[in-house]
Amino acid sequence: MSINDNIIKLMELKGVSVVELQTEGEANYIHLEVPIQGHTCPCCGTSTRYVHDYREQKVLDVPLYNKPTYLLYRKRRYRCPTCGKRFFEKNDFLPRYAHTTNRFFLRLFQELHSVDSQKSIAERLTTSTMRIRRVLDAVSPPLPKLPEVLGIDEFRGNTNRTKYHCILTDLTASKPIDILCNRTEATLTHHFRKYQHTGQLENVKFIVIDMWFVYYTVLRQIFPKATIIIDRFHLVRQAMWSLENVRKRIQKDLPDSLRVYFKKSRSVLLKRASHLRVTDTINEVRQRDRMLEYIPDLKKAYELKEELLQMVQDTHDLETARQQLDEWIKKADASGIPEFKTATRAYRNWKKPILNAFVYPYSNGITEGCNNKIKVIKRNAFGLRNFDRFRTRILLAFQ
Ligand SMILES: [Zn+2]
Repeated sequence: MSINDNIIKLMELKGVSVVELQTEGEANYIHLEVPIQGHTCPCCGTSTRYVHDYREQKVLDVPLYNKPTYLLYRKRRYRCPTCGKRFFEKNDFLPRYAHTTNRFFLRLFQELHSVDSQKSIAERLTTSTMRIRRVLDAVSPPLPKLPEVLGIDEFRGNTNRTKYHCILTDLTASKPIDILCNRTEATLTHHFRKYQHTGQLENVKFIVIDMWFVYYTVLRQIFPKATIIIDRFHLVRQAMWSLENVRKRIQKDLPDSLRVYFKKSRSVLLKRASHLRVTDTINEVRQRDRMLEYIPDLKKAYELKEELLQMVQDTHDLETARQQLDEWIKKADASGIPEFKTATRAYRNWKKPILNAFVYPYSNGITEGCNNKIKVIKRNAFGLRNFDRFRTRILLAFQ
């Protein structure tokens, strides 16, 4: 087997003969031809083997020996002896206007499913980031199918000067289905209206959101039959914030040493009581009790937080949940602690979708996990400020 045969095999170039393999500077050039054969004139149908002239087509292929590799295809034009028509020979390996081979494109497309930066993909494929961007523009994923359980959450982005992007998740399949550039009413409405005549809006039975009012108003209109659920994490966070704010208020007036102690013990207060660690060297229970002992507001706030978390964990029946939540709100009001006002207001305003969080098992916890992968893409995509390309990279990475 000659070296040329090896290359043909290696490069999977069937029906092609390598005329010459040439390495010049930092690039490989593979000169190719296909054998002369009878062609039928596309105009009059006459058979001909008469070669009129040659044209060279230069295309980028996958790297060979880690060097950029170009195919230089010497393409024949045949001439019809009957009608004079000139036409290019047929070939199966290269579309007429291609600048890259199919397998180069496939390899690049595959690489785009990683979380790697455009720059390192370009280096691996010995091409420019410009070409990567062009491919990204060309492969932008189409409108995905709407799932039965839809999660909507935001994540910090840095493209198109938008602080928060919106991530739509299929919560049953645990993967993102789409990314929106922001979470305004206009964007959300425009996005979901695209589904209006697809019959897919009916597919969505449950939607998990946080307490962002725009979500609610838009979704109520577009999915009037779907059950809207407040994400458990966001629900619990309200009570956590209240507790945090009580701690901050109190520690402000404490002497220096105690203030530092309170600040350092922050996580002990936020942790579930049942998860506090007690070992030979660490005693988080004592650490917590020291803080709660002399400060009634902090003690009450802590108990309110614990109670709410316990409820969310244990109660899954609608009526019981309603009763317990109402009692909790009353208790928080009666405590007179101003920091809980935001939480109780939110719980009152959002009561119905909040109660759904007790009853249904769906939450955006998965989306939080996706956000970590997105963060890696974001970090690697330094300079990826074009939102559409950012969206494409994220969706490919989760395919
Ligand atoms: Zn002809």
